[in-house]
Amino acid sequence: MRTDTPQAIYRKDYTPPSYWVNTVEMGFDLDPDLTRVATRMTLSRNIGSRGKSLVLYGESLELVQLRMNGKEVGKRGYTLGNGVLEIFNVPAEVTLDIETALRPNQNTSLMGLYTSNGNFFTQCEAEGFRKITFFPDRPDVMATYKVMLRADKDKYPVLLSNGNLIEEGDLGDGRHYAVWEDPFKKPSYLFALVAGQLVCQEETYKLQSGREVLLQVWVEEGNLDKTQHAMDSLKNSIRWDEERFGLELDLDRFMIVAVGDFNMGAMENKGLNIFNTKFVLANPRIATDADYAGIESVVGHEYFHNWTGNRVTCRDWFQLSLKEGLTVFRDQEFSADLIGTDSGRAVKRIEDVRVLRQAQFPEDAGPMAHPVRPDSYVEINNFYTVTIYEKGSEVVRMYQTLLGRDGFRKGMDLYFQRHDGQAVTCDDFRAAMADAGGRDLSQFELWYSQAGTPRVKVETRYDEVAQSYMITLTQSCPPTPGQPNKLPFHIPVAVGLLDSGGRDMPLVLDSVEGGDDRSVAPTTMVLELTEPSQTFHFRNVREEPVPSVLRNFSAPVILDIEYTDAQLAFLMANDSDAFNRWEAGQRLAMRRMLALTEAVKNGEALDRNADENALGAAFRATLTDNALDPAFCELALTLPSESVVAEQMDVVHPQAIHQVRRFLRRALASALRFQWEVAYQSNRTPGAYSPDPVSAGKRGLKNLALSYIVELDDGDAHKLAQSQYDNANNMTDRIAALSALVNSNAPGKDAALASFYEDFKQEALVVDKWFSLQAMARHTDVAAVRELMNHPAFSLRNPNRARSLIFSFCNGNPAQFHAPDGSGYEFWADQVIALNTINPQVAARLARSLDRWRKYAPELQDRMRAALQRVAATKSLSKDVHEVISKSLA
Ligand code: ZN
Repeated sequence: MRTDTPQAIYRKDYTPPSYWVNTVEMGFDLDPDLTRVATRMTLSRNIGSRGKSLVLYGESLELVQLRMNGKEVGKRGYTLGNGVLEIFNVPAEVTLDIETALRPNQNTSLMGLYTSNGNFFTQCEAEGFRKITFFPDRPDVMATYKVMLRADKDKYPVLLSNGNLIEEGDLGDGRHYAVWEDPFKKPSYLFALVAGQLVCQEETYKLQSGREVLLQVWVEEGNLDKTQHAMDSLKNSIRWDEERFGLELDLDRFMIVAVGDFNMGAMENKGLNIFNTKFVLANPRIATDADYAGIESVVGHEYFHNWTGNRVTCRDWFQLSLKEGLTVFRDQEFSADLIGTDSGRAVKRIEDVRVLRQAQFPEDAGPMAHPVRPDSYVEINNFYTVTIYEKGSEVVRMYQTLLGRDGFRKGMDLYFQRHDGQAVTCDDFRAAMADAGGRDLSQFELWYSQAGTPRVKVETRYDEVAQSYMITLTQSCPPTPGQPNKLPFHIPVAVGLLDSGGRDMPLVLDSVEGGDDRSVAPTTMVLELTEPSQTFHFRNVREEPVPSVLRNFSAPVILDIEYTDAQLAFLMANDSDAFNRWEAGQRLAMRRMLALTEAVKNGEALDRNADENALGAAFRATLTDNALDPAFCELALTLPSESVVAEQMDVVHPQAIHQVRRFLRRALASALRFQWEVAYQSNRTPGAYSPDPVSAGKRGLKNLALSYIVELDDGDAHKLAQSQYDNANNMTDRIAALSALVNSNAPGKDAALASFYEDFKQEALVVDKWFSLQAMARHTDVAAVRELMNHPAFSLRNPNRARSLIFSFCNGNPAQFHAPDGSGYEFWADQVIALNTINPQVAARLARSLDRWRKYAPELQDRMRAALQRVAATKSLSKDVHEVISKSLA
C-alpha cells in the first residue's frame, strides 16, 4: 500500500543495471507462518558503472541479514526504504548473502510466495521475486539458479523448483529437502517453487531428436482423473514447435502444476509452469468444449514461451508484447494447425478476432489505451492487457502476412540465431524480420508506438470500357491519451474480387509487369497501404465485381465499406474467404441491430411480427446449407454481442441494445423454428463424449439451436431444454441446457439450478460456472448478485470465484449492471474497494469495468463518475487500482 502518489516509469529512462548477477543459490525453510530464505548471489559490475551503487528491490520482506564477501554490511553501507535496498561501495566482483523472512499465509496478493489450500506456490512475473528476496528484479538481469527447499515431510512431501532435481533426502526431525538446478540463465520473473501434497500424472516422451524427456502434470489428489487432456496438449505442443519452428524442448523434465488460487491463466516459469486449475483440469463431467479448447491453447502458450520469452526474454517490461504477442500468435497457430481443416482454421480465426473486437477495440478507444509497446506505466501488472496480448499477436501475424509463411520462419530463425540467451526489444524482433525478408519495415514500427485502432475506408470504381477496377484505401487513426496525431501505418489489406457467379476473379494489378498470364494470377492479393490514401488499379476485370476486403482479417483495423444488404447476403453465401463470409453476416446483423436500437431509443415499439427479411433469409440459407461446417454455422448464426453493438454507438443504451438483441433472436427463432429443430436433431452427438473439433462444432450448433428455440419460451421449448439437462452425459450439454432454462420462464429452472449445485458442489471449477451463469442471466439484478455473495460457497479471496460472480455480472450482464438507478455502480465500487485490500491485481481488473463511462447517457455518466470518485477517495488505494481509476477520470 502506498502513501504517496505513485510515479510513472518511462521507457525512455531505461538504463542497464549497474551489476549483473551470475549465479544465485537459494535455501528455503518453508513454513506457512514464517518462511526464511537465504540467498547467495555472485555479481559483476557492469562496464561503465564504477562508482554506482547496487540497487536491489524488496517488498513485504524482513531483512534478516546482509553480507558482502562474507562480511556483514554495516548500517552506513546501505539504505533501505520504499522497496529499494541500495548498497554502496560494492566491489567489481562480489558475493552477496541475504537472508529474508516472509509470511506466506498472510499473502493474499498471490504474488511472491503464498499458500493455497495448504500448499506453497510462487508467482514472480512481473515483480514478485522481490517479495521473496532482495534482488535486481528486472528481466535484463539473467542468472543461473540452484535452489534447496526444506520443509516438513508429511505436510509437504513434494518439493519442486525450476530445472533438474539433483539431490533429495531427509533432514531428520520430520523434515526433508530437495535441490534443484536450472542450467539455463533466466530472469528472476521465471523463478518458481511448489511444495505440498500433490500427485502427478507422468509420461516419458521422445523428441524428434530421439532424446527422452519426462513430462509431469501435478494436481491435488482427487484430480488425477482430470489431467489427461493437459498431458495430451503438452505433447501436441512439443511436437508442433519442433515441426513448425524447429524448436526443441531444452530440458530433461517439464512440469505443469495446477493451483486453485491464481491471478491469471498460467505462468511459464522455466521447466515448472504453474497453472490456474481452470486451464488444467478437465473431464467430460466437469469441463465444456470451450474449457477443453482453452486448456489446449494455454498449455501450448506456456510451453511456447520456453523459446519466446524464456530463451529469448524482454529487456524491460515495456517490451512485454515481444514475448506475449508472439506467444499468443504461436498458440493461435498451434490450435489452428491442430484442427487442420480449412474451415476449422477459419473458425479459429473468427473466434480470435471476436475476442479482439470485443475486448481490445474498446480498450484501444478508451482511457487506458496504450501502444503495443507502451511508453510509460505506473503499475506493470495493469499492462497485461488485450492490447499487449491480442493486438500484439495481430502485429506478429502481419509480419507473416507481409513476408509469407516461409519468410516469417526465416525471420524467426534469425531472431533465435541472434538473440538466444539474451534480453531484447521489440525493435530487435522487427529487425530480424526485416533482415531475413530483405524488407524495409521501418514504418511498421508505428504498430508498436501508436495506440488506437486504425480505420480504413474503402471506395471503389469500375470502368467498364477500360475493364479496370479501382480500389481506394484511406486510413486514419483517432487520438488516444497522449497521442493526438497519428502517422500512417503500414497496413496489409488482403483483397479478392467476386464475379456475378460468386467466383473469385483472377487479380492483375496494373503496376505489376507481365501479369497478363491469367493462369497464374492469384485470387487474393495483399495490398500494402502505407500512405494516408492510395488507389490500386486492377485490369482485365470483365464485370463489376463485389469486393472482398481484409480477407482473413489481415490487419487489426476497422473497415469502413459500403455494401447493400444484397451484396452482404451475396458475400455471406459465396465468398471463398470464410472469414469474410462470416463478416458479411455480422455486418448485416449489426446494421439491423443498430437501426432497431435507434427505434427503441425513439420510443418506437418493436413489432413482434416484423419480417426479418434480409437477415432472416441469410440466416435461413446458412442454417439449411448442409455443406457448411457446423462450427462455422454456429458463429455465423450468432448475433453480435451486446458489447460489440455498444462499441458502434456514440451514446450507449445498454437496455435498448439488450431489448433489441432479444427481439431479433426471438424473431429469428420463430421465423426459423422448424429449421432450428432440424439443426438440433441432426447435430446430436450420441455415444461417448469427445472434445474433438468436429463433435464440439456439432454440439455448438445444436446448443445454439436450443437457445433460439427456448427464446420462444413455450412448453415444448422448455421440455426440450429440461430433457437435455436431465440426460446430458457431458458438461457442455448440461450447462447449455441449464443456461437456456435459467434465461427462460421454464417451471423447472429453480430446481435445475439447485440440483446442479448439489451434483457439483465438490468441483470448484463447476461451482464457478454455477455462479457465473446466474450472474449473467437476464433476470439477475444487483440485489440478486448481492444475495449470491452470501452463499457459503462464495469468497472474494479466490480470484476464480470473484471473477465468476462479480466480473461476470459487471462485464457480462450490461442491461442489469447499468441499471438506471446506479445500483450496479455502487455494487462495483464496493467490490473494487473490498478487493483492493485483498488483491490489488484482481481489484484493478475489476476497476476497468467502468473505464468507458464517457460513452453512456449523461444521467448514467453522473452515477458512474460518483462511483469512480468514491473509489478514488478510498484510503490506502493500491498503485494498481489508483492507476486505473485516475486514468479513467482524467
Ligand atoms: Zn504469455
